[in-house]
Amino acid sequence: AAEAGGGKGSKVLAVVNQKGGVGKTTTAINLAAALALEGLKTLLIDCDPQANTTGGLGFARDDERSSIYDLLMGHAPAEKIIVPTEVENLSLVPGSKNLIGANIELVAQDRREYRLRDALEPVRAQFPFIILDCPPALDLLTLNSLVAADGLLVPMQAEYFALEGISELMSTLDRVTQSFNPKLALEGVLLTMYDDRTNLSQQVTENLKGFFTDKLLKTTIPRNIRLAEAPSHGKPVSLYDGKSRGAEAYRELAMELLERNGMKSPEEERRKA
Ligand code: ADP
Ligand code: MG
Repeated sequence: AAEAGGGKGSKVLAVVNQKGGVGKTTTAINLAAALALEGLKTLLIDCDPQANTTGGLGFARDDERSSIYDLLMGHAPAEKIIVPTEVENLSLVPGSKNLIGANIELVAQDRREYRLRDALEPVRAQFPFIILDCPPALDLLTLNSLVAADGLLVPMQAEYFALEGISELMSTLDRVTQSFNPKLALEGVLLTMYDDRTNLSQQVTENLKGFFTDKLLKTTIPRNIRLAEAPSHGKPVSLYDGKSRGAEAYRELAMELLERNGMKSPEEERRKA
């Protein structure tokens, strides 16, 4: 059997866009679940104080359980905070409303930009994929994610103002690679809530292709009601309605990212055998 992740160690992807409502959380949950269902042990980390990723997987959001807050503050090691989910191979570092204060509390901490990266170090090797769902801001929480990550996955809607704010995001990427994390790179730009029937989205897509070249991912995520419904059932779309267009699109995204990274899907290897 192919070694999980092709034996290359783990890939840490931060799902980032400082705009809200572009599909970050939907992408983090459903991409992580799709990778897990391909047989790759995946860790999903909820770095947003809104804790929508945590809620979307059926966990209460204001629980007493340990969370990303404790991880960042050094209250407990990652192995004590990670919880299994209903999806085989998918584990979660739950989010917490306490994180709202963490931006301020972190300022006073040692290695404040490296807290997440340092905390993940002991468990990194266990997970071929680690997916970080970021808040809609370029704050210290997002900075911690970028410092911990290898790649940036940027969900975006194909709308006229799509590129607004992107230059700020790209200069943040430059700043992080220069000052904190030289191996961080743009992994890909993902079009979400996509409707390829409109002229506008085709025009915008052409523009984005010109701007991002091969970083614009081939997979697009259609607008699909199942993707919007699944979180209220506490499930990723692949468990809620695995035959939906939304589930199919995130499966395709998982396969595209594996291919781009020269990694194999253990499930696919098994199907072929
Ligand atoms: P963000 O995390 O960037 O704020 P979300 O993933 O929470 O964005 O998405 C914002 C809203 O849009 C949510 O209500 C979500 O259910 C919905 N949504 C996201 N992607 C899709 C999609 N492809 N099809 C339909 N609804 C979607
Ligand atoms: Mg979100």
